[in-house]
Amino acid sequence: MIRLPRLLAAALALTLAACAGAPKPAGAPTEAAAPGPRAMVAAANPMAVEAGLKVLQAGGSAVDAAIAVQAVLGLVEPQSSGLGGGAFMTYYDARTRQVTAFDGREVAPAGASPDMFLDEAGKPLNFRDAVLSGRSTGVPGAVAMLAMAHDRHGKLPWKDLFGEAERLADQGFPVPRRMAAAAASPAPQAGTPDARTYFTKPDGTKVQAGETWRNPAYAETVRKIAAEGPKALLEGAIAEAIVAKVAEGPRPGTMTLADLKAYRPKAGPALCRPYRVFIVCTPDAPSGGPAVLEGLGILERTKIADFGPADAEAWYLLSQASRLMYADRDRYIGDPAFVQVPVEGLLAKDYLAERAALIGERAGPAPAPGQPKGAPALAADATLEPAGTSHFVVVDAAGNAVSMTTTVESVFGSGRMVGGFFLNNQLTDFSFSPRTRDGAPAANSVAPGKRPRSSMAPAIVLDKDRRFVLAAGSPGGPAILAYNLKTLVGVLDWELPVQQAIDLPNLIARGETYGAEVDKFSPEVVEGLAAKGVTLRGGGAAEGSGLHGVQATPAGLIGGADPRREGVAKGF
Ligand code: GLU
Repeated sequence: MIRLPRLLAAALALTLAACAGAPKPAGAPTEAAAPGPRAMVAAANPMAVEAGLKVLQAGGSAVDAAIAVQAVLGLVEPQSSGLGGGAFMTYYDARTRQVTAFDGREVAPAGASPDMFLDEAGKPLNFRDAVLSGRSTGVPGAVAMLAMAHDRHGKLPWKDLFGEAERLADQGFPVPRRMAAAAASPAPQAGTPDARTYFTKPDGTKVQAGETWRNPAYAETVRKIAAEGPKALLEGAIAEAIVAKVAEGPRPGTMTLADLKAYRPKAGPALCRPYRVFIVCTPDAPSGGPAVLEGLGILERTKIADFGPADAEAWYLLSQASRLMYADRDRYIGDPAFVQVPVEGLLAKDYLAERAALIGERAGPAPAPGQPKGAPALAADATLEPAGTSHFVVVDAAGNAVSMTTTVESVFGSGRMVGGFFLNNQLTDFSFSPRTRDGAPAANSVAPGKRPRSSMAPAIVLDKDRRFVLAAGSPGGPAILAYNLKTLVGVLDWELPVQQAIDLPNLIARGETYGAEVDKFSPEVVEGLAAKGVTLRGGGAAEGSGLHGVQATPAGLIGGADPRREGVAKGF
């Protein structure tokens, strides 16, 4: 079939070249003399982007800017991430060309138990009750993780990175549309006493988009964090307030001061695998990284690069690789400190070939998980993950890059507030049942000190010489895997500039369902897919992406911000 889309993309690249320098897509590292931007921030809110840019302009590093971005996101996008949440960060060091994964995932307290999300009759709690309970909150890790990254890669003093968040919280900020919509939404966390108090004006009505909003408690908290580091959250008065808040009913949690004090982020080499002429890096389990790499590994053994995004065959291959990826991740991924996760087996060449060979001419029933080497006897669990997360990317002038997915789990986390920020409900990312219906243990069951499975998979792509090509990622619960896969294929296979790759319609193929932004596909693609047994279903999660990315081109950096959120990508 003719690769029309590639030609279209080339034409578009030329058009862009006329106004913004030639953005030759993937595979082209930033040249020292590149005329375009050499530093860039892409995030879900323009105020957070500005905070990051200010830090970069003051000579700060990518990690310095990431800290400022997170501090502002926690204020202006509290439905998605914040000081009370967790995160994964993939970091590229331009000097050593090494990629490190930082793990700031929340941890279950020492008092957590495998049955804590079961009711008195031993049945899984309904999700809403679990989220609103004190048991859903894990020990928050995002701030501690950022501090660890700052110790290694910070340039400016930690205390100087919170000024913008403090100023906006003290003096007020214009309420973003999405924050107002989340506050007015039927999400149960928007109706908790804490959320109602915070989002209600003196006249009794709810906060509106565009109004000036202040959060003095948040300003006080960031002042403390700026002065004392993560200790300000994990020890002392704020820690005590967290413990007290989690201990409130309904269904109090067990978190103690000792749990908070014991929190340690992790760092280690990222999980990197070749993909065609590139190297793709993500964090390891319990993140969504291994699954995205498996999806790519399967796709590498198909002809997806020969078809473009206007072709039904391309989406067919993407959808079938996606189903195989989900089947394996749903069965095998958990915290590797607690369960045997067969990452090597899942990413082994022969295994990937075996999985790719399962993609036939027509879609069959939902694929079963495979049997990779090192696979323990586990059964698929039914972990649920609704949206409440953010992804941002920072590249500094030295070429260092941060790709960070950060989360309070659901909209406004558990809906409980301390110090002007929301506590996460990340522990509902565990499987509610320790065992599956057939009695096998679930990889993602609750245990004290364990990190719940995540779909977050902040990616960094390098060329064969380990020069920076792309950083990208998304929120979206389990759909993150499909969003990221689409974007990586869009840039790496279809050679689209990252913004266009982000704009491509979302398609989440998992089990028997094909959730999609149906209206964004051409009738030819929809019909072509239907003829192959893939019936797209609209609505649901497909619109929940928040993809952000930055890509290197010979003309400098180009960025992409998901039009489904309200962010921007800006550089200088
Ligand atoms: N809590 C989910 C995870 O860590 C993310 C939820 C979301 O993206 O909204 O995978």
